[in-house]
Amino acid sequence: MIIARKKPVEEIITEIDPYDRILILGCNECVTVCEAGGKKEVEILASALTLHYQARGKAKTFGKATLERQCDREYLEEIRGRIHNYDAVLSLACGVGVQFAAETYTATPLLPGVDTVCLGANEERGLWTERCQACGSCVLARTGGICPVSRCAKRVMNGPCGGSANGKCELGPDTDCAWQLIIDRLKALGRLEDYEQVAPIKDWSTDRAGGPRTITREDIQL
Ligand code: SF4
Ligand code: SF4
Repeated sequence: MIIARKKPVEEIITEIDPYDRILILGCNECVTVCEAGGKKEVEILASALTLHYQARGKAKTFGKATLERQCDREYLEEIRGRIHNYDAVLSLACGVGVQFAAETYTATPLLPGVDTVCLGANEERGLWTERCQACGSCVLARTGGICPVSRCAKRVMNGPCGGSANGKCELGPDTDCAWQLIIDRLKALGRLEDYEQVAPIKDWSTDRAGGPRTITREDIQL
């Protein structure tokens, strides 16, 4: 899922300060699971901002709404009838949701209330770790299901760099060397020959370096 974290409230206050009527807009999907931008966070943020401005004698109105997904036009339509009541929207969705909302409601400033960090896994409550960088050409079949693109700091594709030591990345002792993990996994699977094969040159044109990506599925288009 997409992992995001709450922006510091001071940064949010700076963003919203020029506006009097602000709609705080949550999203029911990834940002709810990572507890950054779901219904609960909308409620908490609205209360905190209301108290902040009341204490300073400033009148601001905070509306609240949480959509099923902000990255989907169908759900964004749900606020069309009320968005004119607000001077700005503070979106707690990931960067995709903020942009899609901004494209849908071009007359209203859309402000991000979270920082979108990565595609990751929910390891335990309060702990998320990056697992994929959406490179567009998955190599997990030959790396024992461990991603060298997202888990190796240098994105090397043919085994560890010279900085790998005692199973750890040269970044430091808190970071496992992705290639050590891959080798260990392939060994356990009895597939070490996969590691000994020189990997073909990866097609990075499907990665971010190839520019914004579009996926078209004509078989399901209406
Ligand atoms: S190889 Fe690419 S698509 Fe596969 S997990 Fe890694 S970044 Fe994601
Ligand atoms: S030590 Fe391992 S994970 Fe770190 S950059 Fe080198 S190969 Fe990648």
